[in-house]
Formats: sequence, structure tokens, C-alpha cells
Amino acid sequence: MSWNFETDSDFQEQLNWIEVFTRDEIEPLDLVFRGPGDPFDPDSAAARAMAPLKEEVKSRNLWACHIGPELGGGGYGQVKLGLMNEILGRSRFGPTVFGCQAPDSGNAEILAHFGTPEQKEKFLRPLLDGEIASCYSMTEPQAGADPAEFSCVATRDGDDWVINGEKWFASHARFSEFLLVMVVTNTDVPIHQGASIMLVEKGTPGMEILRNSAVGPYVEQGDGVHAYIRFTDCRIPAENLLGEEGKGFLVAQTRLGGGRVHHAMRSVAVLKKAMDMMCERVLSRTTKGELLANKQLTQEKIADTYTQILQYRLHVLYTAWLIDKHKEYNREVRKEIAAIKAATPKILQEVIYRAMHLHGSLGMSDEVPLMNMWANIPELGVVDGPSEVHKVTVARTVLRDYEPSPDLFPTYHTPTKRAAAMAKYGHFLN
Ligand SMILES: Cc1cc2nc3c(=O)[nH]c(=O)nc-3n(C[C@H](O)[C@H](O)[C@H](O)COP(=O)(O)OP(=O)(O)OC[C@H]3O[C@@H](n4cnc5c(N)ncnc54)[C@H](O)[C@@H]3O)c2cc1C
Repeated sequence: MSWNFETDSDFQEQLNWIEVFTRDEIEPLDLVFRGPGDPFDPDSAAARAMAPLKEEVKSRNLWACHIGPELGGGGYGQVKLGLMNEILGRSRFGPTVFGCQAPDSGNAEILAHFGTPEQKEKFLRPLLDGEIASCYSMTEPQAGADPAEFSCVATRDGDDWVINGEKWFASHARFSEFLLVMVVTNTDVPIHQGASIMLVEKGTPGMEILRNSAVGPYVEQGDGVHAYIRFTDCRIPAENLLGEEGKGFLVAQTRLGGGRVHHAMRSVAVLKKAMDMMCERVLSRTTKGELLANKQLTQEKIADTYTQILQYRLHVLYTAWLIDKHKEYNREVRKEIAAIKAATPKILQEVIYRAMHLHGSLGMSDEVPLMNMWANIPELGVVDGPSEVHKVTVARTVLRDYEPSPDLFPTYHTPTKRAAAMAKYGHFLN
């Protein structure tokens, strides 16, 4: 197994370009377009502003890098995508300008794997071209973290499936051309064998958006992008079942694994941005006759921040490398994905709090981006599953490699081990 912490020089050149492009062309969008749907809604004014930027990205072969070349993407794999995302994540618009925004990136992977040729032509092609948006809808108002509580069902009726039930927090549904909806198709078996994913086209009779919630108190209530949806006898054709009936969670794994890593990759960008602000500030502010940067308690904050970010970043890149190596979400890969997913809100809390604190009143004002960053942390602890659930995955996988002690005392019990060591080397003492 080879280990390498270097980026090849051609790709490093691309990264250098991405860095300048993100700073000069993309980050200003955040200051102009502040609506929650702006980075994702293909009909927004922001989409028109992004159009020429997308063309530039395409001309440099950096568009939709997570997708294979056969579908028009760069096929760069997760490590390169990680290195890109730790720059793009500085802006809400970065991933969209580069064609790798959630949830479209994962939905495209599902369609590429499981869609019919007609579905690929109608939805996948424009999705990959960034012309339409899509939604992935699994959570229900009474059940998120525990799928066993899901009750939105689809029953077979002739050549159709008929969906009845409710979905909650379906991001971007309100401007999506299609939704991938997790439904229960067999109530007689455990949910992991009885759920399926169906493609529901925008405007299908029987699908109604009851309201759109927002995260945080930023907009008028109901003007967010997370839809509360009701399905009432919503009829879709049989071929809109993606993958096999009952294999919905297997199908979902195609996108959820990648999605969780991408959140973490973008979080590296946010963390670095917070550290940049922290460092500039402490080198600029004088108090009690010296720069903040010269005070040891500040230096401890800088050192801890640097070390934590580097550790987290390496863990994220290691996980990306594992995915590229195994090309599947096997147990080893899932353990690392779950570990970084659970680590993400914790490191963000610590680093962003420190950055705000070192800025004093300015840090919590609306005149620097830190408060916005702070407000976005809690969602990373629940989106794609709460931290507790991921920690359980990590712990269970770790424990699989261990066995209980065969004796009353542990295998590392010093008196027992010393007796064995004495039998081996004790004669040298005489
Ligand atoms: C910004 C945002 C966007 C989202 N977008 C989508 C989307 O596009 N599509 C979609 O389907 N869903 C989406 N969700 C929903 C998300 O997937 C759910 O919030 C998540 O799965 C948790 O479900 P819940 O909110 O119902 O919380 P619950 O299941 O009610 O859990 C609440 C809390 O209970 C505790 N808990 C739960 N289970 C356990 C356990 N096993 N052990 C210990 N404690 C536990 C945890 O503290 C957890 O945070 C989004 C959420 C957010 C915040």
C-alpha cells in the first residue's frame, strides 16, 4: 500500500485556479443573493449570474467531477473532489457553480445506476447539465432517524404505483423537476427489506406541498426550501420504481455515503475560513499594549485550531481515499464516513466559537460571516442522520474487531503477562 500526501502538479494547478476563481467570482455571490434557495433554484436571478461561471468551469473540465466521463463528468474520484470541495465550501454557491451540489450530485448517481434510458434522457441529462434541480425525500414528519417508523406507502395497482402518506424536510422540492421518494412497498417485512425508491415527477396529481420550512429565522415563515409534502392517491407508472422493489436502502446507499463525505469536505472549507479570520484578527488587534497574537492564551487557541483542522482534514481525505480504493461503501468505508459525519458538528462548534470569541462583539455581529457559519452548525448534526446514530455505527464496527477476555482477568493483566514474560526472559536476571 502506498501513502502519498502530495497532489499531482497538473491538478494542483487546477486547484490554484479554483482558489482564485472561488475568491474573486463566486464568494461575491453570497453577498448579493441571500435567499435560502438561491444557490439551487434554476429559475433564480442567482442562476443567471452563475451561468457564465458554470461555462468557465466546464471549459476547464472541472464540471461535475464526481460523475464518470461516460456521463460527461470529470470522473476524478473522491480525493480530488475533496480537495476541490475544501475550497468550494467557502461559498454557498461554490458546489453549484462546479455541478456537484447536494442533493443533485447523489440523485444523479442513483439515476445513472438505476434509471431507464428514457428517465436518463429526460432527467439525468439536464440534471448533469445544471439545467434542473432535484429532491431526495425520505424523512417523514413523525420519523427521521428511525426508518422503521416510516408510514408513507406505495401500493401496486395494475401498471402503476399509488403513493399515500407524508414527507418532511424534502429540500428543494419546491423547484425540483423530480423527487426521489423513499416509500414503504411491503409492510409485512422489516423496513430494510420493504422500502423502495420511486421517481415522482413535478406536478404529478396527488402530490401537494403543504408548506416550505426554513432553517433559522432568516426569511418569512414558510418561505424556506424544505418541503412538507402530502401524497394522496398519487399515481406513478411502474417503471418509476428505481432499483428492485424492497431494495430502497441499497439504492439510497449510492448517494448517502457520498453525500456525507461531501458535507465534511465542505466543512473543511468553512473551518479554514474561520481560522483565516481568526489569524488576521489576532494580528490586527492590540490590547493591554500588545497584539492579541502575542498572548499565550490566544496562541493556545490558534495552535488547537490548526491541529484540530489538520486532523479532521486528513480524516476526511483518508475516507475519500478509501472510497476511491474500494469503489463501494463496504464496512470499512462506512465506519470512516460515520466517524467524520459525527465529528463534523463538534469541530465546527469549537473552531467557530473560538473565532467569534476572539473577534469580540464584531464576531457575533452581522458584519462578519461568523454568526452565519455558527447558525449552520446544528443542521450538520442531524442532516443525513443524527450524530448518535453514526457514533453507534462507528462503535459497533470498531467492537467487531475485539473479543471478550477468556479469563476472569483481562488479557493485558500485568501479573499474568509478567509470569509469561518471566518464563521467557527471567533467566537473564540470574
Ligand atoms: C437542513 C436540513 C436539510 C434536510 N434535507 C432533507 C432532505 O432533503 N430529504 C430528507 O429526506 N430529509 C432531509 N432532512 C431531514 C434529516 O434527514 C432528518 O432531520 C434526520 O434524519 C433526523 O430526523 P428527525 O429530524 O426526524 O429527528 P429525530 O429522528 O426525531 O431525532 C431527533 C433526535 O433524537 C436523537 N436520536 C434519534 N435517534 C437516536 C438514536 N438511535 N440513538 C440516540 N439518539 C437518537 C438525536 O439526538 C436526534 O437528533 C434535512 C434536515 C435538515 C436539518
